[in-house]
Amino acid sequence: MTVRVRFAPSPSGYLHIGGARTALFNWLWARNTGGTFVLRVEDTDQERSSLDSVSAILDAMEWLGLDWDEGPVKGGPCGPYFQSERRERYRAVVDEMIGAGTAYRCYATKEELDAARTELKAKDPKAQFVYPGWWRDRRDWPTNAPYVVRFKSPRDGQTTVRDQVRGAVTTPNSQLQDFVLMRSDGYPLYNLSCVVDDHDMGITLVARGDDHLINTAPQILIHEALGWTPPTFAHLPMMLSPKGEKLSKRHAAVAVQDYRARGYSPMGVLNYLVRFGWSHGDQEVFSRSELIGLFGWDHVGKSAGKFDEKKFLDVNFAHLKDERLTDTEAYLAAVAPFLARRGIVEPDPALLRAALPHIRERARTYEEAAFALDYFFRELPEIDPQAAAKFLTPATGPILDGLAVALDASAEWQAAALEARFRAWLESSGHELKLAAQPARVALTGRTASPPLFDVMEVVGRARTVRRLRHAAQTAAGG
Ligand code: GLU
Repeated sequence: MTVRVRFAPSPSGYLHIGGARTALFNWLWARNTGGTFVLRVEDTDQERSSLDSVSAILDAMEWLGLDWDEGPVKGGPCGPYFQSERRERYRAVVDEMIGAGTAYRCYATKEELDAARTELKAKDPKAQFVYPGWWRDRRDWPTNAPYVVRFKSPRDGQTTVRDQVRGAVTTPNSQLQDFVLMRSDGYPLYNLSCVVDDHDMGITLVARGDDHLINTAPQILIHEALGWTPPTFAHLPMMLSPKGEKLSKRHAAVAVQDYRARGYSPMGVLNYLVRFGWSHGDQEVFSRSELIGLFGWDHVGKSAGKFDEKKFLDVNFAHLKDERLTDTEAYLAAVAPFLARRGIVEPDPALLRAALPHIRERARTYEEAAFALDYFFRELPEIDPQAAAKFLTPATGPILDGLAVALDASAEWQAAALEARFRAWLESSGHELKLAAQPARVALTGRTASPPLFDVMEVVGRARTVRRLRHAAQTAAGG
């Protein structure tokens, strides 16, 4: 049987990193097996769904490179892929179930339900209200009165979920109630629309967060009531906050787009997320194709993982610094918007390529990379006032001027030759290295930390190096 998996977000905001992890596992399984990855938008909750959040989710998926084979924009043979456009189908299924006696119309009013709830609470404040099934076997339906459709849940027996991660999970049916399938306004509830779509879209495996495990027995029962074969399931362990709570924006940035805005790479994000549940020995860093090749359910564990911002940054860094993981072209394209934010638009491509190898080793994100590249593209660097106060003092002015003359006399403009010149000049002029090196770095970069000074000089070029040294000399002299 060819694999068909799906990611089924509810568009009520943005793509949460937990949702992206679920999408990733489904996508990896589809790509690993040559199967199909379906994207389905679960937008039946009209109040919470919006088109803006649909596009935010699609954008985030595209940015992560989690391309879908069927779904919004793409289309496909099982569409429409928006649940709001499938309402007639849910209605037809519910009518079929009522006809077959596996679902029923419930005319209980809110007042009746509230009264029953209050009565129960008065007897036992801790008791959980369970709908008693008043309309389960009635057929004396009033005309023109609103009703919900409830599932006629079996009272005996048990339901077993066969889960790729958790093994067999069995729930006694007595624990389930006659849950609502369709609201009185004709909107389907999640369990109904999910089952109908998983069936109609030929889904073979449902992988989702294990907070959905409680829905799975009811869903299996709906499949069975309709004479359908349920898919298999894989419930993925939760992503928790560092303190072990459900991860939310109180703890960390949880929207994929926040990481994009901070200059994370899509593979840095995916690589961090895949480790929530899946492992391959103690390997931490994976390329996209490695992940596709290695992924499988055998190595998906049950234990929840804790979100660790520092580790996330480290994994991203591993992707950014290694040319085999992020090639130069991809790097340049990704860093461009961050340079543009600093006002560096259409930077000289040759200069960019020359500077890049020197900053890759130190930039953990594209945002940090743009910061590290900044001074290469300025006529004069922006000088950090603290660095100026410390290193561009009246005593260093003449040193920087002398250095400008000495270096400008070098026939070759290349790091090793410049360093040799610098050292020879120190010797002949009697200046101490420490009095010259840091001021020169501040002159060239505006900062006290940078790649090796002579590498910077080589990339920046003769004219700008000399200009920067002279300009800093003037600043040092108080001019
Ligand atoms: N729309 C549901 C959610 O976002 C989908 C759950 C499922 O994958 O079945 O949680």
